[in-house]
Amino acid sequence: MRVVFLGPPGAGKGTQAKVIAEAAGMAHISTGDILREAVARETDLGKKAKAFMESGGLVPDDLVVAMVAERLSRGDCAKGFILDGFPRTVPQAEALSGTLSGMKASLDAVVYFKVDDEQVVERLSGRRMCRKCNANYHVAFMPPKKAGVCDKCGGELYQRDDDKPETIRRRLKVYYDQTADLIRYYRERGLLREVDASASPEAVLGGVKRALGLAK
Ligand code: AMP
Repeated sequence: MRVVFLGPPGAGKGTQAKVIAEAAGMAHISTGDILREAVARETDLGKKAKAFMESGGLVPDDLVVAMVAERLSRGDCAKGFILDGFPRTVPQAEALSGTLSGMKASLDAVVYFKVDDEQVVERLSGRRMCRKCNANYHVAFMPPKKAGVCDKCGGELYQRDDDKPETIRRRLKVYYDQTADLIRYYRERGLLREVDASASPEAVLGGVKRALGLAK
């Protein structure tokens, strides 16, 4: 199955994508994770992307589109994939469609995670991430067993720079200005499946599975 997870930052896309991709043997492609790694490694892409990410803006389409096309060509995508955080603009969606046509493939569904702004701010400001394995936690809603330490790999948990209040507001604005158009784009193509993402992670997982026909 080839799927896109769409929704504002903090909607729980990454948390759900990890669980579903692992259970279904699909590749989980988080453009945010790939870009953060490129920044940490100071690659050419990372150097170009850094300032955009720090400000809460979007990395230019051409860079992200090329990065995703390369990632989709790898063997682990053959059994299907979940794109998390991509596309974020209509031109990215059009480019994705072109990349997939070149592979004689197409998307099966786009899951739209619906959640309101207040919850986004609450979730992002308490979010913590593992430096080693990228697992996500929340200080109140999904705390690790030991504060500051990843349950899965023992790595150090940190707060992303762009999860600080000012940048969160900028990211939400960018979402409404640029990404929200994608909802219409995919609805018009009959691919959009809406999920109430305001509930607990377990309840949202049930909703996503139903949306994808993986559960009743
Ligand atoms: P995320 O982890 O998905 O919240 O992404 C973190 C940051 O990476 C975003 O605020 C953007 O600066 C950048 N980014 C991730 N995915 C994309 C994309 N599809 N297009 C442009 N920028 C992106």
